[in-house]
Amino acid sequence: MSPSIDFDKVWLQSLSCDSITARSIEATVLRIDKLHPVISGNKWFKLKYHLEDAVGKGFETIASFGGAYSNHLSATAFACKEAGLKSIGIIRGERMIELSHTLQQAEADGMQLIFVTRNDFKDIENIKMRFAQPNWYWVNTGGYSPLGAKGASEIFNWIDETYTHILCATGTGTMMAGLIKAAKDHQTIIGINSMKNETLINDVKNLLDEDELRKRYSLLHDYHFGGFAKHPPALIDFMKKLWKEHQLPTDIIYTSKLLFAVFDLIKKDHFPKKSKLMIIHSGGLQGNLSLPINTLPF
Ligand SMILES: *Cc1c(COP(=O)(O)O)cnc(C)c1O
Repeated sequence: MSPSIDFDKVWLQSLSCDSITARSIEATVLRIDKLHPVISGNKWFKLKYHLEDAVGKGFETIASFGGAYSNHLSATAFACKEAGLKSIGIIRGERMIELSHTLQQAEADGMQLIFVTRNDFKDIENIKMRFAQPNWYWVNTGGYSPLGAKGASEIFNWIDETYTHILCATGTGTMMAGLIKAAKDHQTIIGINSMKNETLINDVKNLLDEDELRKRYSLLHDYHFGGFAKHPPALIDFMKKLWKEHQLPTDIIYTSKLLFAVFDLIKKDHFPKKSKLMIIHSGGLQGNLSLPINTLPF
């Protein structure tokens, strides 16, 4: 039931540049984007226990939600295909004549797409009532749930206790919650919000118990570059620079903003000397296919 992902492909990429060495900081990128080309990065972790739960309870179909560029949906479609489950994707917005690469991929992996208007999409409970079949197992948008966070906490298996700060991008906050769960008390988890959603921290907290709530974490809101999926030229330029100087590919929605934040925080002396940073490359590179061809050199 486990999809064909390859843990041996995950590696730790060390970053070096003048501002890092000048502060005796160590900065390492956890390349879980390498797990699998479609179920790349954090999505597999967030889905893992949902699929197990569904199979255990005898469900044959997984249904979930997302937009036209949802990494979560393409990962769900693929993971379900590999697990021998059917998949349904409820998509925000009308069907376009030419589907996004993400949705094309999902459809090719057998996902049945159901399009609902943006307005209807706001009321998830109503959608469930309208479409649900008794044999459908629902997974929240982005895999947000205690099961999603439990899976995401396994990302910590690559992170030992010498790391002082663990940095990740956030969408629904599920991965961040999972990392907080797995962190030791002396470690700080920093989320970089890729959206303008200022209430996100509440969603993170809702997945934590009392002890976990007392751990060290913060969510930063200064690096969304205009909002979810917004990618102004300054961000694209940064992505090109990152590739040229560190051979590190990033995606336009999450990881580019995360890496931008990391370098900015280092320069602003946010981290004490000798800090050891672990930066989670959570994947999402397939999302770059929505850019005009040749926008990026990778
Ligand atoms: C979905 C996604 C995230 C956001 O994860 P959440 O658990 O929803 O916060 C971060 N990075 C990438 C590459 C993603 O695809």
